[in-house]
Amino acid sequence: MEKVVGIDLGTTNCAIAAEDSFTGKGECIPNKEGSNLTASAVCFQNRGELIIGNTAYECKIIYPDTTVTLVKRLIGIEKIAITVDGKAYSPQQIDALILKSLKEDAETELGQTIHKAVITVPAYFDSNRRQATMEAGMEAGFEVLDLLDEPVAALYNADTIRSYAGKTVLIYDLGGGTLDIVCAKITETSIDEIVISGDNHLGGSDWDKAFISHIKSTKLKGVSLDASAEQELANKAEMAKKELSKKNETVFTVMTSSGRKEICVTREEFEHCTEALLNRAMNVLKETKETLEEKGVFKLDQIILCGGSTRMPQIEQGIASIYPGVDIFAKDRDQAVAKGAAIYAEALMKEKQPSVSRSEKMKPVKKLNRVTSRSYGIAAFTGEDEKKVCNMLFQNEELPTEKEDVFYTRYDHQTQAALEVFESIDAQKYKEIGEASLLGKCCLHINGNLPKHSPIIVNLRLEENGVLHVHGYEKSGKTEVTAHMQTKALLSRDDLIVEKQQVDDIYLKVV
Ligand code: AMP
Repeated sequence: MEKVVGIDLGTTNCAIAAEDSFTGKGECIPNKEGSNLTASAVCFQNRGELIIGNTAYECKIIYPDTTVTLVKRLIGIEKIAITVDGKAYSPQQIDALILKSLKEDAETELGQTIHKAVITVPAYFDSNRRQATMEAGMEAGFEVLDLLDEPVAALYNADTIRSYAGKTVLIYDLGGGTLDIVCAKITETSIDEIVISGDNHLGGSDWDKAFISHIKSTKLKGVSLDASAEQELANKAEMAKKELSKKNETVFTVMTSSGRKEICVTREEFEHCTEALLNRAMNVLKETKETLEEKGVFKLDQIILCGGSTRMPQIEQGIASIYPGVDIFAKDRDQAVAKGAAIYAEALMKEKQPSVSRSEKMKPVKKLNRVTSRSYGIAAFTGEDEKKVCNMLFQNEELPTEKEDVFYTRYDHQTQAALEVFESIDAQKYKEIGEASLLGKCCLHINGNLPKHSPIIVNLRLEENGVLHVHGYEKSGKTEVTAHMQTKALLSRDDLIVEKQQVDDIYLKVV
């Protein structure tokens, strides 16, 4: 049968895996260098040649201007282009190159063509970033079966190693660029998400940056570094960071304007110069704990660590101080996400082919009951000149979820009202427009001569498959508008918004 794969498209490293049909476990597929991890790096060579992966990462020292890394931090962010040799690439195009290379390597290793994949994304990614990731997958030649949240993928993997039925588990996933936390109750047949939280801008590369700046200001004072020495320092500082996860002290050398210089660093120094980042990482966990307690979850049975950055001893210590006594499980930190995505991908395929029965040895794959990782609302004037997003559906509500709210016309005889739908990443009732991102808009045409402050009813319903239904109506004129927006990602951007007119009129929400 055709293999389907799970792909962890990471900020610093990627992995691709397929399910072993005998054990039901995910197995990583090695790249052409024999490694299960492929650096998320693309080096553009002179004659249009491309080097992708671990060699490209090494190339960054020699060709810092034509080697692109950390592109996941930029994907789906509007108007960002990466210029190499005068040619502009979108982050999505770079990710597509990386995915294509993973696909080709895996095809060579397996000796068969691969068409279908599940790609993982941070649980905290918004719709635009999910959409861009989906499109990168398609550009690379995949049929993308689904996008799966990274910590949930890690949970699928862990559940095949240990059985978590009846347990409440928290996954703490700190990778190269993002922090993701998911807490879920596991049953015999399902994974029921309780809380999703995280920080899209916090990961190992921030620790690297803080460490490099400390090294420059304390150990490289008065010397200058050219672009390739800067890159050498970046690579060696990252290696030193990794060594300091095991040792108390380490030494490396770097080339400076006054010759090669030896640099000695200690774990104490590293922890001191990255303390603010640790605090940020732990504050997210403390807030998650509060949200869990609001939802009646006071006890965790297990914490699972994944993502390479959880190897820093400060992370495990911080977690243990917030949840003392809870067992912490850390296995497969770098590959768990890809392996779990492969298990999930295979389950999706089996669902589509009910005639195929799983072997006796295999456990049935559990249904994922999601919560929403973001909040959704409508933009409305809350005062004379003050327009805000009034959230109606809130982060961490179980899906499907639905809410109806009343808004009001802003003027006498208003003929249309714009329903602008925004998403934001926390659960506040009112958000500044600039703190939320526009998901789509539609227009309610109003018949009749209504005085200002006539009610308009808006209903938002978010389905488990990520489709957000917007329904607005005005009772007396019997007019209504319905639109469907994608919050997860879909196959074609054309399906994104049913009604796309530009409407300037805005209505008033009386608070
Ligand atoms: P991931 O996105 O899960 O591949 O994680 C990559 C991040 O983990 C990078 O920032 C690495 O520098 C970091 N990392 C990997 N191994 C270690 C280690 N032993 N100690 C500290 N950080 C590590």
